Amino acid sequence: MSAIPLITIVGVPNTGKSTLFNRILGKRKALVHSLPGMTRDIFRQKVEINDQWFDLQDSGGFFLDKEILTVEINKKIFNAAEKSDLIIFLFDGKRELLGYEKDMYLQIKKLHKPIIPVLNKIDNLDQFIPPLTYFELKADYIYVSAEHNLGVEVLLDRITSFLENSEQAAPDLTYAPRISIMGKPNVGKSSMINKIVNDELVIVSPLPGTTRDSVDLEVRRNRQRFILVDNAGIRKLQKVKEDTESAAVIRAEKEMRQSDIIIFVIDISKRIDQNDLLIAQKIIKAAKPVIIAGNKADLLEADTASNKFFGRIHERFNDLYFAPFVAVSAKTGKNIFQTLDLAESILAKLDKKIKLSSFNELVKRLLREKKLTTADHRIFSPKYISIESQRPFFIKFHCKSNLKLKTADEMFLKKRLTQELQLEGIPIFFKVSASR
Ligand code: GDP
Repeated sequence: MSAIPLITIVGVPNTGKSTLFNRILGKRKALVHSLPGMTRDIFRQKVEINDQWFDLQDSGGFFLDKEILTVEINKKIFNAAEKSDLIIFLFDGKRELLGYEKDMYLQIKKLHKPIIPVLNKIDNLDQFIPPLTYFELKADYIYVSAEHNLGVEVLLDRITSFLENSEQAAPDLTYAPRISIMGKPNVGKSSMINKIVNDELVIVSPLPGTTRDSVDLEVRRNRQRFILVDNAGIRKLQKVKEDTESAAVIRAEKEMRQSDIIIFVIDISKRIDQNDLLIAQKIIKAAKPVIIAGNKADLLEADTASNKFFGRIHERFNDLYFAPFVAVSAKTGKNIFQTLDLAESILAKLDKKIKLSSFNELVKRLLREKKLTTADHRIFSPKYISIESQRPFFIKFHCKSNLKLKTADEMFLKKRLTQELQLEGIPIFFKVSASR
C-alpha cells in the first residue's frame, strides 16, 4: 500500500464517475486544477476527510475524449484498481446491469481489494428499488445521486471508516525533492510533463496551494517521491530575451532557487540560440544541480543523439560543464523516466559527506598534475582549503592574497574535481580568500 491510500472510482462509461469525483472533491479541501497546456486534466487529487488524506482517482480519465470502453482502457482500469487501496465501483442505477459491466466487477473483485459498490443516478432514494439484475452481484450497494448530492454522505462515511481502519493512512511527510523543468518556449517542457503525468506507473497529485504560474505535482514512482514543478509562467513566454525581467521570469528564478535540481530542456533538433543561453545563465545563478535534457531526439538520426551532440552541447554551455546530457523524446517517451532516475542519483550524492582530509589530498594532487596560475600570472598555491558547504558545493581557498584563478585553470580544476569526486550534475563554486 502506498503512503497515502489511493482510492479509485471505477465504472463503465456514463455511470457518472467524474460527477461523483467532483462531488467528493467539492465537499473537501482539495485542489481542482486543470493544468494549463496539458492534453487532459489530472484525474487524481489529494483529498482530506476528517484529517485523513487520500488520493482520489477518477478512472474516467483513461477514456480521454471518447466514452468507449476498449480492451486497452479496460486493462488500464484493471491496473489502476490493482494499485488502489480501495475501489469505488460505480453503476448506473437507472438501468439494468450490463453484461460487460458485470464481468468487469467480478474480475476486479478477484483482486480481493476492498470495494464499495455504488448505484448512482438515484434521484429518489426512499422509493428506489434496484433493477433485478443488480442482485446477481450479491453486493451491498450504496445508493447515491452524485448530481443532486443525495446519499453522498453515506459513501463518505464508508470511506472514512475504511481510512480509520487502514494502518498506513498517515501521509508521507518525508521531504520530497523539487525538480524544476526549465527551458525556453517550445522545447517540449509541457510535453515532457505530460508524458510523466500520463504514465500509468506514476501517481501524480497537484498539491494544494500552488499558483497559476507554477504548479506543484507530487509524483510517486516505484519508491521515489518528488515534486515536479511545472513553470507555466516561463512556458508561456514568447521570447525569453524580451521578457527577461518579466514577472514570470522573476518567479521562475525564485522557483529555481527553491528547487533541488533543475532539468534544463533544450530542443536538439534545432540550433542552440540566445534564449537557451539566457536561460542557462539564470540556471547557473541558481547554483543547483542540473541535467540537460536534449528533447525531440526522435527527430534526429539514431546515434547522433547522444554521441556527437554531447561534446557540442557542453561547448555552448561552458558553465554547465558539470551537467550530464541526456537525449530524450517527449514524443516517444525515450529516456524521460531515466532522466528522473538520474536526478534521483544526483540528489543522493549531495548527502554523501566529503572528508576534508582526503579532499585536501586530492586538490594537492591536482595542483601537482597541472600548475595553475592566477589571472595576474602568479602560481596558485593555496595555504589551505575548506569546504564551506556541500549544498551548494562551495570551496574556499585560503591564500596569501586575494587572487583570482585564470578562467581556463579554474575550469580545469572544477572539471577534474567533478571527475574525481564523481560529482556529475553538481556545480562547484570557488572562493579565494586572503588569510595570513
Ligand atoms: P514548451 O513550450 O516547452 O512547454 O513546449 P511544448 O511541450 O508545448 O512543445 C512544443 C512543440 O514541440 C509541440 O508542438 C510538441 O508537440 C512538440 N514536441 C514536444 N516534444 C517533442 C518530441 O520529443 N518530439 C517531437 N518530434 N516533437 C515534440
